[in-house]
Amino acid sequence: MSKQTKTRRVHVPTYDYDMPLKTYQLQCAWCGQDALVTCYPGRPPRFCSTDCATEARKAHDRARKATGQPQGHRQPRQTATGDVAARKNTRV
Ligand SMILES: [Zn+2]
Repeated sequence: MSKQTKTRRVHVPTYDYDMPLKTYQLQCAWCGQDALVTCYPGRPPRFCSTDCATEARKAHDRARKATGQPQGHRQPRQTATGDVAARKNTRV
C-alpha cells in the first residue's frame, strides 16, 4: 500500500440529547411553600429544594431516634417484599 496513511482525528459526536425535564408544581412537604421544581421525570419531588429534603430527612431521623426504636437499618426485606406482604394478605 503506497497510500500514505494519514491519521485524521474524527470527532464522534457524543450522544447529546435533552433529557426531558419535568416541572412540577408542588407544595413543599417541609416548609409548605408552593414551588415549581424542575427535575427529571419519575417520582415527583416532595420538597421545594434539596435543603428542605435534607432537613426533612434529618428531622425524620431525629424523630425516629426520639421514639427510641433502634432501627439501625431499614429492613430491606420489608420494603422489598411489599408485594409479597400484599400477596400474603390476599391469600389470607
Ligand atoms: Zn421547602
